[in-house]
Amino acid sequence: MFASDNTFKNFDALVIGGGPAGSACAITLAQQGFRVVLIEKTEMQCLRIGEYIDASIGTTLFHLGIKESQWIASAQRSTGVAVAWQQDASPHIHQGVFNPFGGAWRLDRQKFDNFLFAHAGSLDVLCLQARLQLANYIDGKWHCTININNNKESLKVRVDYVIEATGRANPENLAPCNKRIYFDKLFAMAFRADAPGMLETTVLSELLLLEATTQGWWYSTHLPGKQPISVFLTDLDLLPRGTPALKQFLYSQLKAANLTNEHYCWVKDQIDAVNWSGFNAHTGMRKTFMSNNWFVTGDALMSMDPLRGQGIPDAIDSGVQIAKLLANRPSKNDPIFIATAESFNAIFNERLLERTEAYASQPLYAGNAFWKRRQH
Ligand SMILES: Cc1cc2nc3c(=O)[nH]c(=O)nc-3n(C[C@H](O)[C@H](O)[C@H](O)COP(=O)(O)OP(=O)(O)OC[C@H]3O[C@@H](n4cnc5c(N)ncnc54)[C@H](O)[C@@H]3O)c2cc1C
Repeated sequence: MFASDNTFKNFDALVIGGGPAGSACAITLAQQGFRVVLIEKTEMQCLRIGEYIDASIGTTLFHLGIKESQWIASAQRSTGVAVAWQQDASPHIHQGVFNPFGGAWRLDRQKFDNFLFAHAGSLDVLCLQARLQLANYIDGKWHCTININNNKESLKVRVDYVIEATGRANPENLAPCNKRIYFDKLFAMAFRADAPGMLETTVLSELLLLEATTQGWWYSTHLPGKQPISVFLTDLDLLPRGTPALKQFLYSQLKAANLTNEHYCWVKDQIDAVNWSGFNAHTGMRKTFMSNNWFVTGDALMSMDPLRGQGIPDAIDSGVQIAKLLANRPSKNDPIFIATAESFNAIFNERLLERTEAYASQPLYAGNAFWKRRQH
């Protein structure tokens, strides 16, 4: 479709990354009358992590013009969070009874992200499975070459704004502002039940179970459609090298988490089979959120420890915020950008403080490396 066209096509904005932040940003820009290209490097079919979403998501999406009936197919209500964080083995159950938005949701992230991406397409955003190959800032415009269909075709676009929403992955190397500060080396290992015998439901199935152990913590739940998932979080440099040592480490961490071990016992079989997927889960922030009308949003701008449990709503809000900032097409020296940068720094520092408090509330393993690093 694009192969032979070598001329630059004019759009208002190019959004890179089709996760919640990128899609929300593209949707809001389109609602403001911007002509938008949204590119996503994957086919969106791989495992996407982050399965528990605060009940307020309904309101967030409503403000994007999306009704519950449109996204409900990707979610199921949760009955609460069971937290075995401190010394006592019996978990505290938070049922969200007093939450005016009702209970939280267990989310099929793949379906949810695909839905938002497709919704952007329905608003005339040009949505492509593609990657940025070249980007040059000339006379106040970004001239970008995009590779499509595994490099078989390319599209050249000239845009006023580029918005990078690439998540926690390494920053886009073409970005004019790609320095990132990392605050930890948190890493997630996700286990999924993939055999019929592993699909058994228990009293905890509809809850999110959160459990601390000596060198990290587990969270587990059943996704919509009943598939159980269990994720272990620790620091990358605490993982022993070599498969036998790594397996021993994971067995010990599972054994130390009594409830996870009991209710998600199939995880042991997956450790045996070396069957897990790894994800970066670090806390980090880009040094600057804009340079030459290239903006950064979502986790690409600031990523927090998943313990916060608000990553998806935060990413959507962040994408919407950048889009709204551009609504009146401010010049790149507009003071609004300085004020915005200051507010991002303040938000990040506040969340870091929350993280310290959350980890400090687990005194049992305070002497162990994973916890010690986070308790000051
Ligand atoms: C282990 C773990 C558990 C979590 N659990 C929860 C949870 O329960 N609840 C919650 O609310 N949040 C959770 N989060 C956080 C949440 O997943 C993120 O905050 C959220 O996904 C951020 O959205 P995003 O759009 O900024 O980035 P992402 O969701 O990472 O999306 C980025 C997109 O950009 C694409 N991309 C990357 N590079 C390029 C490129 N160069 N070109 C084109 N496309 C590119 C990626 O393929 C991806 O689709 C968790 C995070 C982790 C790591």
